[in-house]
Amino acid sequence: MPINKILIANRGEIAVRIIETCRQMKIKTVAVFADADRHAKHVQMADEACHLGGTDLAESYLNIDKIIAAAKATGADAVHPGYGFLSERANFAEALQAAGLVFIGAPTEALRLMGSKSAAKITMLQADVPCVPGYQEVDQSEATLQQAADQVGYPVLIKAVAGGGGKGMKIVHNKEEFLDQLHSAKREAMNAFGDDQVILEKYITKPKHIEVQVFADSHGNVVHLFERDCSTQRRYQKVIEEAPAAGLSDATRTDMLNAAVKATQAIDYVGAGTIEFIMDGDDSFYFMEMNTRLQVEHRVTEMITGVDLVAWQIKIAAGEVLPLKQTEIQARGHAIQVRIYAEDPENNYLPSTGLLERVKLKQAPNTLVDSGVRTSDSVTIHYDPMIAKLVVWAQDRDQCIKQMQQVLNESAVFGVKTNVPFLSQLLATQAFKKHQIFTNSLDNNELQLSNQLNPVVMAIYAHHLLQHQANPSVWCNANGWRIQGQQPLSLAFTYQGEAQQHEVIREGEAYVVNGQHHYVPQRHDLCHVHRNQVQIIHQNLRYELTLADHEAQASASDANAIYAPMPGKIIEVKVQAGDSVQAGQTLVVMEAMKMELELKAERDTSIEQVHFKAGDQVKAEAVLVELEPL
Ligand code: ADP
Ligand code: ADP
Ligand code: MG
Repeated sequence: MPINKILIANRGEIAVRIIETCRQMKIKTVAVFADADRHAKHVQMADEACHLGGTDLAESYLNIDKIIAAAKATGADAVHPGYGFLSERANFAEALQAAGLVFIGAPTEALRLMGSKSAAKITMLQADVPCVPGYQEVDQSEATLQQAADQVGYPVLIKAVAGGGGKGMKIVHNKEEFLDQLHSAKREAMNAFGDDQVILEKYITKPKHIEVQVFADSHGNVVHLFERDCSTQRRYQKVIEEAPAAGLSDATRTDMLNAAVKATQAIDYVGAGTIEFIMDGDDSFYFMEMNTRLQVEHRVTEMITGVDLVAWQIKIAAGEVLPLKQTEIQARGHAIQVRIYAEDPENNYLPSTGLLERVKLKQAPNTLVDSGVRTSDSVTIHYDPMIAKLVVWAQDRDQCIKQMQQVLNESAVFGVKTNVPFLSQLLATQAFKKHQIFTNSLDNNELQLSNQLNPVVMAIYAHHLLQHQANPSVWCNANGWRIQGQQPLSLAFTYQGEAQQHEVIREGEAYVVNGQHHYVPQRHDLCHVHRNQVQIIHQNLRYELTLADHEAQASASDANAIYAPMPGKIIEVKVQAGDSVQAGQTLVVMEAMKMELELKAERDTSIEQVHFKAGDQVKAEAVLVELEPL
């Protein structure tokens, strides 16, 4: 069946990326959008666009009826779901087929089977694919689960059967904490997926996440396109991905690629898929899950193989034979992708929302920038906070890391907090260079991230910057930087949450900071200033300064109350008026941007008043709990 027009049932960078391939294939495109996305990049790029509804997901990107109506109204032949949203929903695929539309995705049976972590594991065990030891049966009684966990042996990982996106997982360290963690996992699973069934797995303590890209056509052909290492994760979510996996022996690689092809054949799969494996310290690997869609990190595979995976998806959906045979697919060089998120790595990766005052992402040879946003767009609470993906290809891994650092050095995002400094610090670690990052290294704080640039050096850079700033009015009218031209300059800024005050004088090549002489080689092209934010790149690491006064204003907490850091829903209030609490104790659990946030007491105190209960919606900065005044 020929495909001449595709509706893209998604938004952001993935919608943009799909439109790019459609243009090359001379296929017309239809974008869909919610209210908040009326002027979004994907809407602007598509040939046509259909408004779906309000910002609520159920009214827009998850509304199957509206999407089908839009496809019909525009005469689209097929629908590409991207990733996330409806990409793995069997009922969406069925509804499209019933409406005479082609679903550019997996067969319905595969979506159902692989959408359940228990069914997937049972199927894979039957097909003789190694799986993580655990429990995946239907009996969900507490007694049975407790017994199964004891048998698996601690630590045990509880996972939601319907889980995805790293949500709803809990590690249990010993028998005693099992039931508590089970309740918490079930609650999170019910809340996120509407299904509280769980499976149990042996928790691998030094795990690497290695996955295989597979592709199958409707004529019985299955190939792999090599593997990706996605071990750099925070909260079970990928941050940096690369291909090929470094340090993997040829024998293990071959076994893994073969196991992935076998798994794909076992379920009569069609289309693009990813078989995720977890690898233990002794190189044994186990099937974890199959993602029956295009993966966020598919670009690194494209970079090393030269294959356009979206083009392959479209051809296969149209009934064509796989464009290449296994022997014709070759891997060359090394590719790394970093995900740029609007979030604060120093504050539990809390998503950061707001206006993107400036987005500058470096375009260079052998570099791909996938982004769904531009300067003046906003990051809102409604969608995933991923701003962009940067992907770099080079001859070998060391070159690739260097090139990625350079690309990061020349990129800047202003207006919201991002993980860019964190990414550059991650790439600079010995652990990353020696591929010794495991999926839990970040969560366990095992990495030596050198974010400790001497504030004195920061002061020197800041001084230098202010003197070279082409348009000082941008920053000069703000509080704190009122220093131009006068000696000594008094600099007040916030660095990693702490107020800093420094006196700086320039004396020839030297800087005298608080009476001490320093020399710092200057590269002012590696500094970015925007309003109250300064980003400094020093020895391939990036640091950020914020005006002290601004920081104080932005803070949503004071000592006498607990505030909602962003709009969301209250999941649980763990205290009541009159309770005594200790510093660090969780008072309220809320959900915002599909994440559970634990709001904790910052000091020993007692509870004066509680203003909300489980289920309540709260606005940003709402007072949730009042504490005994200091
Ligand atoms: P990848 O392995 O490609 O990173 P993820 O499983 O992390 O894929 O998910 C890809 C995208 O889809 C992310 O934006 C994630 O938030 C979203 N996503 C995946 N599964 C779900 C789910 N069950 N519910 C909500 N969002 C999901
Ligand atoms: P999701 O569907 O949310 O992507 P996965 O089963 O793919 O769930 O697991 C997500 C991540 O959780 C993995 O990439 C890995 O980091 C970690 N993980 C999963 N299973 C285990 C396990 N048995 N032991 C240790 N870590 C695990
Ligand atoms: Mg996964």
